[in-house]
Amino acid sequence: MQDILDRFLGYVKIDTQSDASSNTTPSTAKQWDLANKLVAELKDIGLEDVTIDDNAYIMATLPSNIDKEVPTIGFIAHFDTTPDFSGTNVNPQIIRNYDGKDIVLNAEENIILSPDYFEDLLQYKGQTLVTTDGTTLLGADDKAGITEIVTAMEFLIAHPEIKHGKIRIGFTPDEEIGRGAHKFDVDKFGAEWAYTMDGSQIGELEYENFNAAGAHITIQGKSVHPGYAKGKMINAIGIAQEIMAALPNKEVPEHTSGREGFYHIHTIKGEIENAELGLIIRDHERSSFEDRKKALETIVFRLNEKYNNCIELSIKDQYYNMKEKVMPVYHIVETAKEAMEALNITPIIKPIRGGTDGSQLSYMGLPCPNIFAGGHNFHGKYEYVPVESMEKAVEVIVKICELTATK
Ligand SMILES: [Zn+2]
Repeated sequence: MQDILDRFLGYVKIDTQSDASSNTTPSTAKQWDLANKLVAELKDIGLEDVTIDDNAYIMATLPSNIDKEVPTIGFIAHFDTTPDFSGTNVNPQIIRNYDGKDIVLNAEENIILSPDYFEDLLQYKGQTLVTTDGTTLLGADDKAGITEIVTAMEFLIAHPEIKHGKIRIGFTPDEEIGRGAHKFDVDKFGAEWAYTMDGSQIGELEYENFNAAGAHITIQGKSVHPGYAKGKMINAIGIAQEIMAALPNKEVPEHTSGREGFYHIHTIKGEIENAELGLIIRDHERSSFEDRKKALETIVFRLNEKYNNCIELSIKDQYYNMKEKVMPVYHIVETAKEAMEALNITPIIKPIRGGTDGSQLSYMGLPCPNIFAGGHNFHGKYEYVPVESMEKAVEVIVKICELTATK
């Protein structure tokens, strides 16, 4: 058995940043570096049917070790890191027996990981933390998930006395640019359900996410000399302002939490002749999600009556709440919960205010809740992961395999 920390460090040192502006899969050639290493490792530890396709999607099988027919289940993680922050030359720092005080990530630049600001740190007093050196992200999102799945498989191979059905594992590129599930071959994977190991702190278990749409509005104005514009000028900027004013001003990201939905205007560009608005719409409830889209259409419809049809609106659905697909097979959430409770981990079940690969996979026919991978402060220099949380995640995977075989 390889030490879990060594395994994790080996992965995070390989740069796998994805790139939304690329049209290839994987979006960056460097993702192959880790993908190829993983394929070799999966074969090495004794998994079967280890495959990698032209898009760098990796799959492998741990065969059943029991006679009885039990469901095939899967575990999924992604090996890319976000384009939002550098993943080049990751230089992890190991803090053993964390004392609950400030951690100096980078003395030169005075970058401090402090529990005064990141209170979650305090729950890991006495544990071993892996942090960055303040100049890159860490990549625990989601190389912690990869580490945990590989380690759990290696553990199960070494412990044939633990009985389990057929287990499939899948590693994907490009999750961080929203394309991790796009080319995932659900039929080839052949599992009844799966879990993404891509959540944050220990205990997290998620099966609800937003319904999501993006909207784009273009407004055609008419420029006339301002001194002689009365009754003639149509100022596209003014109309953009009217649209924004018509939206409920408290239903925005900065005023909502939990299951509250929102409209979020993220782009405005404008001149008199032409203005554009870009926004996203989010809601956990499908019906209120549809109502939000209708409300925006109504605003545009009314203003089009007032301004002679100078506004164009396009709305595109982006993803849906996986809850719809998970509720009919809710036992898959209960199994994960039961596994955590058996290991004295308190499940933290809360709706995701975003999407996951699991939501797309759920709509592709593979119901897929999300389980903690253990890291904190993803996508930046304050990212860290306690080794103990990774070890617990390995135990959760093993326990889920065991529980699924005994039901
Ligand atoms: Zn992730």
